[in-house]
Amino acid sequence: MTGPAAAGVLEPGDVWAYLVARGLAPDGSSGTVREVGDGNMNRVFVAVPAGATRGLAVKQAPPWIRALGPSAPMSPERAMVEARALATFARFAPEQTPRVLDVDPGRFAFTMEDLSDLTVLRTALVDGAGFGDTSRQVGDLVGRVTFATSAAGATAADRAALLAASVNPVLAAVTEQYLLSEPFGASDANRHHPLLDAEVAALRADPAVRTEVSALRWAFASRAEALVHGDLHSGSVMVGERDGAAVVRVIDPEFAVVGPIGLDLGLYLANALVAAARSAALGDRAEAADRAGQAAVLWEAFTAAWQAGWPGRADRFLDDAWLSRQLASVWDDTLGFAAVEMVRRVAGYSHAADLETLPDPGPASAVVLRAARALLLDRPAFGDPAAVAALVR
Ligand code: ADP
Ligand code: MG
Ligand code: MG
Ligand code: MG
Repeated sequence: MTGPAAAGVLEPGDVWAYLVARGLAPDGSSGTVREVGDGNMNRVFVAVPAGATRGLAVKQAPPWIRALGPSAPMSPERAMVEARALATFARFAPEQTPRVLDVDPGRFAFTMEDLSDLTVLRTALVDGAGFGDTSRQVGDLVGRVTFATSAAGATAADRAALLAASVNPVLAAVTEQYLLSEPFGASDANRHHPLLDAEVAALRADPAVRTEVSALRWAFASRAEALVHGDLHSGSVMVGERDGAAVVRVIDPEFAVVGPIGLDLGLYLANALVAAARSAALGDRAEAADRAGQAAVLWEAFTAAWQAGWPGRADRFLDDAWLSRQLASVWDDTLGFAAVEMVRRVAGYSHAADLETLPDPGPASAVVLRAARALLLDRPAFGDPAAVAALVR
């Protein structure tokens, strides 16, 4: 343990008493607690009262990276960034946002709705599930949140407050390192399937690739368009059914920043394409086509949310032709961020179970890498989501 912050780190045996102390469980009550977190960064506990089926989930950021332990310190402030982002998401997209009951800045923890009846989207996809209503709901969430927090949807005063409350330099640096630089250079953390040796080397040596990734790094660092989730891959979406209706929750916005809108759409799109490449590798062409087709579903839901907000926009000067131009620019960014995420998943540090659990990840990884390179270098050829889908079918 390192310093005073470590003293507040919860263990499963502490969680019930913690809930009682926070006023979230009655004095003298009891329940079972299990650690469910499977992420790299933080710890998540689910606490269920005796006799009940659902309870509460407590997420805590230790002052280090969970997967690496105390030798890899990281500010636990990220839990408060996440809690603030969840509050903003809940304002504009309450249906897809986990309900937060308590925020505890002293412990860098917050308590939320128990989602353990749902499944992580990536896990569901690996098990062969369809997307169902998920991409529509995610596109809708990104559309609502980004419109409402953009200079189109929010007043200048609200934007200033949002910007001040959304600084997140620690996690932004993680994105710049693991998404927007290391996969494109030599790093000991990178790895790839040997089948990709030549193509990975060619990608890293290509000056045109360097320039495109530079443009995306610049966009990430300097284009404060709207509040974005920042880590919206298929591991940050939980899906299931309650009372016969599809339920979608977007979790884990600890990377939230005011940044380019296309980041969230690109991360989600990339992981849908990776899932499609898995289906194609397994010989399920119909499933591959359906998964690749999520590009159109996501984009339509996103643009519908902007169109819905547009008549009530805060800045009345902005005209309809500008809106068309802005949406085209978001699509262009979406393709670029999708491409770097796809490269990261096959040649960076953090690979995807969709490919890793294939009997041989090589051929599907090569499809993903080639698709990524095409998206990165020839974005104007992919003005239509159908053209994107054709890359991996
Ligand atoms: P990290 O920041 O470490 O990636 P996540 O927020 O992604 O943490 O959560 C890690 C895992 O914990 C999720 O993949 C999911 O399995 C589980 N989890 C997260 N939130 C909840 C919740 N509210 N209820 C039940 N399980 C959850
Ligand atoms: Mg996570
Ligand atoms: Mg199937
Ligand atoms: Mg996280």
